[in-house]
Amino acid sequence: MPRHYYLFGRPVSASLSPVMHNAAFRALGLDADYAAVEITPEDFLGAAAAFIARDDFGGANVTIPHKQAAVAFCARLSPEATAAGAVNTLVVDSSLPSPCVRGENTDVTAIRAILGDHPSAAGRTAVLLGAGGAAAACVVAMATMPAGGAFAKLVILNRTAAPAESLAVKARRMGLPAEAALLDRAPIGRLTGVGAVINATPLRTADDWAPAGFLDALGHGRPVVIDMAYGRGPTVLLKTAAAAGCPVVDGREVLVAQGAASFALWTGRAAPLAVMRKAVYNERSQPCFAT
Ligand code: NAP
Repeated sequence: MPRHYYLFGRPVSASLSPVMHNAAFRALGLDADYAAVEITPEDFLGAAAAFIARDDFGGANVTIPHKQAAVAFCARLSPEATAAGAVNTLVVDSSLPSPCVRGENTDVTAIRAILGDHPSAAGRTAVLLGAGGAAAACVVAMATMPAGGAFAKLVILNRTAAPAESLAVKARRMGLPAEAALLDRAPIGRLTGVGAVINATPLRTADDWAPAGFLDALGHGRPVVIDMAYGRGPTVLLKTAAAAGCPVVDGREVLVAQGAASFALWTGRAAPLAVMRKAVYNERSQPCFAT
């Protein structure tokens, strides 16, 4: 029987997850497919339960705006999902009580792995732009880096103060010294000892960044610059950082890393990374269907 996998979210029409996972299933010869499903917040719990109850349900990703709602829905949570207070992957586990799904957060595992690939960032300050769901996953990743990979401090810069303050509290509770400031009042050139910069806002273009003046002196200290936001090509943040000599990580790499972790949890197989990366870099969007 073919297994069906889904992305539950709204909007999902621009997601690259279907093309990425379908390419991976094909490459490994698995009888499975993946589709994006647009679900409103009001319908999420009922619609997700109906999909999960199907015999051919293989697993799912969960994205905006359902990641927090999915927490209450799962029979068990991974430590990453518990710490983030958000689930991006539903894994079928028949040993669990109904609805027999475990909630995972592979955004956390992906960011932690990517930061681990840049050991020069350890022991320095991390700068996080944004204080929403992706930023919360970054905080959990940064606060749970393995020995030797820990950051000295986290600075959270956000458009509005309250979400940044509460995320800083969360970081401190997890043992990571953290402070919050407003994004447009803190150009990165003023910060010293920065080892990593992660953008977890949707800002991508030159117009997005122009008012903030944030990109001035970005290259100071050559931090690794990771952009969660992505488009067809590199974002302005990544272009600016690369021109300043910083190592950069495209949001599509984060997408592939979290997708590969979800794929492995669902199938028990190592994800075909090169196939998934090629699919993501060659495609723009896939059709979705609505409940
Ligand atoms: P979210 O929960 O809605 O949070 C959005 C954040 O961006 C908030 O901190 C918000 O600030 C800030 N923001 C929004 N518009 C802004 C603007 N015009 N100027 C300055 N700040 C702005 O969204 P999310 O789930 O965290 O996602 C954030 C980005 O990460 C999205 O682009 C998403 O596609 C991307 N993402 C990528 C991956 C990947 O695999 N590459 C995974 C997850 C997310 P306020 O608090 O002031 O509203």
